[in-house]
Amino acid sequence: MKNKVAALFQQSFGAEPAIITRAPGRIEFIGNHTDYNGGTVLGAAVDGALWVAVSPRTDGRRRWRSGLSDTVVETGGELVKLKGDSSWINYPQGVIDAMGAHGLDLPGGFDYAVESDLPVGAGLSSSAAIELSSALAFLELTQQKVDRETLVKIGRKAENDFVGVPCGILDQGVSGFGQKDHLVFIDCRGPDFSTVPMPGGAHFWIFNTHTKHALVDGLYEARHKECMAAAADLGVKLLADATLELFRQEVHKLSPTVAKRARHIIEEIDRVGKTIAALADQDLAAVGQHLTASHRSSQHAFENSTPELDSLVDQLTTMAGVYGARLTGGGFGGAVMALTDSRFGEAEADQVAEVYRTRWGADPQVLHMRTGDGAEVIRSHSR
Ligand code: ADP
Ligand code: MG
Repeated sequence: MKNKVAALFQQSFGAEPAIITRAPGRIEFIGNHTDYNGGTVLGAAVDGALWVAVSPRTDGRRRWRSGLSDTVVETGGELVKLKGDSSWINYPQGVIDAMGAHGLDLPGGFDYAVESDLPVGAGLSSSAAIELSSALAFLELTQQKVDRETLVKIGRKAENDFVGVPCGILDQGVSGFGQKDHLVFIDCRGPDFSTVPMPGGAHFWIFNTHTKHALVDGLYEARHKECMAAAADLGVKLLADATLELFRQEVHKLSPTVAKRARHIIEEIDRVGKTIAALADQDLAAVGQHLTASHRSSQHAFENSTPELDSLVDQLTTMAGVYGARLTGGGFGGAVMALTDSRFGEAEADQVAEVYRTRWGADPQVLHMRTGDGAEVIRSHSR
């Protein structure tokens, strides 16, 4: 990928790039909709990544090229919201906007190229990867350094404010703090970031259904409101403040629907803690049970699963070598993650895809991933 982004840069701008950075995609391992409830979440940075190459220009112009498109787009020194085929440029532009909000020096003119082996919209957060790799590139261009936490916040701010997607801190936190053979643990309230060793021999498989509920934005908002209503009914600020004991005592105050949502969040935060304990014991069988329990809670209590996702989990959890499986990401469509040992390979994944195809008439996108390192500068000739 390093050579690929350098080649794209060369082909687009006729020179070697001065700076190359990369940032990984991520998998939500466990901790579903816990972020905005002040809870905890575990994520894995994956070995697929997005690479950015840049060089400074002296004329103040900015030229942009993605390997996903044939055209070079040019902008001036002002940030402009772009539409249509060029709208991807809003992500790196949003990073510049967020750098400004953090009081950092902004890059002037530059040439910019991006290549990626992360599929877009497959639940691996290519958006966080483009934000963090762009932020590192622009910081190198302007010869500034920030700590990891600031880098993560710049990426999230770019997506929240300039692009306009209200994502939580998971995507950027994991892309920023990821480490090979580790998971990233985030206490979303701080937010506080740390890493947890991942026992050897585990494989991650993603089955992306390419389905997305038509009402997904409204459904997110509805869940958010229900969670806030539950916290108010339980007399706490956020659901992360409610214990299971408090929930059981006070559940009569909640409507049946709100009670189900609250139970999911409170138990899910508890499951994140149990998963960390099981990881420390190197007990992948127990980890897998928590993953599958998380899915069942999404399916029945939070009701953010779909029949397609459920069918994948139903099948995967009957197969040899599968520790557990769950929907990963916001739900209402999207992808299922399975944690497996090496008995589960390409042939088994094909079998899952085949059954899915027979049932739903469409192929899931299948990705085999391992853990990878967080965002980093690969080359910098700018200093
Ligand atoms: P994901 O789940 O992959 O994060 P999003 O919709 O949040 O999906 O973000 C995907 C967007 O990120 C793309 O529509 C595009 O704007 C940008 N993006 C991702 N990968 C690339 C790439 N290789 N080149 C240009 N833009 C990219
Ligand atoms: Mg995204």
